[in-house]
Amino acid sequence: MPGAESLHEACGVFGIYAPGEDVARITFFGLYALQHRGQESAGIATGDGAALHLYRDMGLVNQVFTEETLEHLQGHLAVGHTRYSTMGSSRVENAQPIVVQSDLGELAVAHNGNLVNPFDVLAELRARGRPLRGATTDSELIALLAASAAGDSWPERIRAVVPLLQGAFSLVMATPTQLIGLRDPLGVRPLVLGRLGSGWVIASETCALDTVGAEAVRDLEPGEMVVIDASGVHTEQVAPVERRALCIFEFIYFARPDSVIDHRQVYLARERMGRALAREHPVEADVVIAVPDASVPAAIGYARESGIPFHEGLIKNRYIGRTFIQPDQRLRERGVQLKFNPLRHVLDGKRVVVVDDSIVRGTTTPRVIAMLRRAGAREVHMRISAPPMRHPCYLGVDTARREELIAAQIPEVAAISRQIGADSLGYLSLEGLHWAVDLPSDRLCGACFTGDYPLDVAAETDKLVLELTAAGR
Ligand code: SF4
Repeated sequence: MPGAESLHEACGVFGIYAPGEDVARITFFGLYALQHRGQESAGIATGDGAALHLYRDMGLVNQVFTEETLEHLQGHLAVGHTRYSTMGSSRVENAQPIVVQSDLGELAVAHNGNLVNPFDVLAELRARGRPLRGATTDSELIALLAASAAGDSWPERIRAVVPLLQGAFSLVMATPTQLIGLRDPLGVRPLVLGRLGSGWVIASETCALDTVGAEAVRDLEPGEMVVIDASGVHTEQVAPVERRALCIFEFIYFARPDSVIDHRQVYLARERMGRALAREHPVEADVVIAVPDASVPAAIGYARESGIPFHEGLIKNRYIGRTFIQPDQRLRERGVQLKFNPLRHVLDGKRVVVVDDSIVRGTTTPRVIAMLRRAGAREVHMRISAPPMRHPCYLGVDTARREELIAAQIPEVAAISRQIGADSLGYLSLEGLHWAVDLPSDRLCGACFTGDYPLDVAAETDKLVLELTAAGR
């Protein structure tokens, strides 16, 4: 979960092939561990050898499922999804997994990422005369494309679909007899293969494997498809890799700190971001605090490198999540107080360094700073464990439009500092970020900082673009 500003997660996916196990229950706990990646809706589809069984609804994973609903999800394989809508609105029809029918039978699809060419896919489906069922998400388009592709088996059809897709897609898919994992050729979103007894698991992050007692085997390679069925595990490269572009924001705040991506522990990467930030932007201060939760390791890193003690200065309501109850006007004006509460005894009379992972629109950060001052902070020095975000993301993160990004509108850091009401502001450099993540820059995407997208992106698209198009179909 990000810090003060609202930069939303994409989705979490989980798949399991494990005859003899309660695959629905294991998937539930896998999704529970991936809840931070999306809190709008959740779903599980199981395959029992003959048919798929699906249950999905709006809400958090533990609001959606009960003992009774899990009871109906029988089978020896399953795929699950927890969603934040990066394309298509937040409603139950768009909850995943999506199940489509074809002459080969049913296919359930759970998708993390965003396509950048949904209109090409739409045009292809129209050319095939495929009924669109009012599809309003790119995930549904992928499912329909696979269902209508040429081929005598699902792997054959999926292989045929990959060249038509551009963008980010980490997918887990289920037929009544097969579990299929696929990662886009850029490898934008993570996807990891694990072992659970004699069964197999595929998940967005290793924290989900740890939670269900599975052992991480390896990341799926960009462009790799893994097919798991009664005959074993079959893996193949279905698309050439021209460049890699793992989303660097996974390391900054997306992923859980206890996850390991591309052999890098996310927690350690965040701590190193804080160390680099302290070297790049030192300041005389009495205490270092974090905007919880994602920024805590970076704040600890800043404190260790600078020698300034780290304390908890803001306590977060961990259950604020996504409540569907809207605050009234008076509560809304109190704003972030619903989310954070300052610890006066830590802040009173102190020069405070506040570490956060991003400033997106610049609407929430000033309120946090004002809150710290009300709690007695004498100086507030904002330190951000990422470079200024000047470009929107088209690859599965709801970053806001370019005209809404404060760093796109105000190029001078000192002017942003004044705007948010800080005594000083320092962003981590791109070099510092790459040092912290410790992966070569040509393996990573950092386009929201640089504008250097790993593929052609069309003019800014709205996440409801397919719905708007559907209305005119
Ligand atoms: S543009 Fe930014 S948020 Fe989007 S994939 Fe690239 S690094 Fe991640």
